Amino acid sequence: MPGAGVAFGPVTWAPPKSSDAPLTAWVRDVPDWPAPGVIFRDLTPLWADGSAWARAVRALAAPFDGSPPEMVMGIEARGFLVASALAARWNAGLLLARKAGKLPGIAHREEYELEYGKACLETHSDLATAGKRVLIADDVIATGGTARAALDLARAIGCTTIGMAFLVELSFLGGREKLGGAFPIRSVITYDGTGAAAVNE
Ligand code: AMP
Repeated sequence: MPGAGVAFGPVTWAPPKSSDAPLTAWVRDVPDWPAPGVIFRDLTPLWADGSAWARAVRALAAPFDGSPPEMVMGIEARGFLVASALAARWNAGLLLARKAGKLPGIAHREEYELEYGKACLETHSDLATAGKRVLIADDVIATGGTARAALDLARAIGCTTIGMAFLVELSFLGGREKLGGAFPIRSVITYDGTGAAAVNE
């Protein structure tokens, strides 16, 4: 029985009947959240289903399994979940790209533009020796500003980015173009803005 929880928006979602359903079936669309006009792609149903999540991790990792990175950088907060699963798969180290003021010790900072105002990401500059091969991971790439800041952070601490991986890409926002073409960018589910989704699995 539902408790006296807080509800946001008319969210309807039901688990798929078959575990073979396309991975999009585990993405819950939340209309007009956190702002009017935005469809928030909520991945908590995917994380809540062990076999769907395992499929998503395999799909995310596939292009890099042959030559995996030495470290995976996860972007706070949901990117930590993605990065952690990939790092464990490859026996790679984990680097955190955190929001401002969260990391004690020696951290490097990159500022970036949001739709309104600025934000910044920080990472420890003493945990990755120069030249480490790093893959950067997040749950969603939208405008690409956050991913770009993480890429600049990795470069600033001397790492070489060999790839980036996202569970979801909103391709109509052009984020990929902000990242240059120097390495493969993997997205498992791509929404093109018409409501259609392509799945790489
Ligand atoms: P951006 O910097 O615009 O690429 O935004 C990427 C960050 O915002 C990611 O860390 C996502 O977690 C989050 N994000 C942006 N848009 C969405 C969306 N429509 N659904 C879910 N998360 C989003």
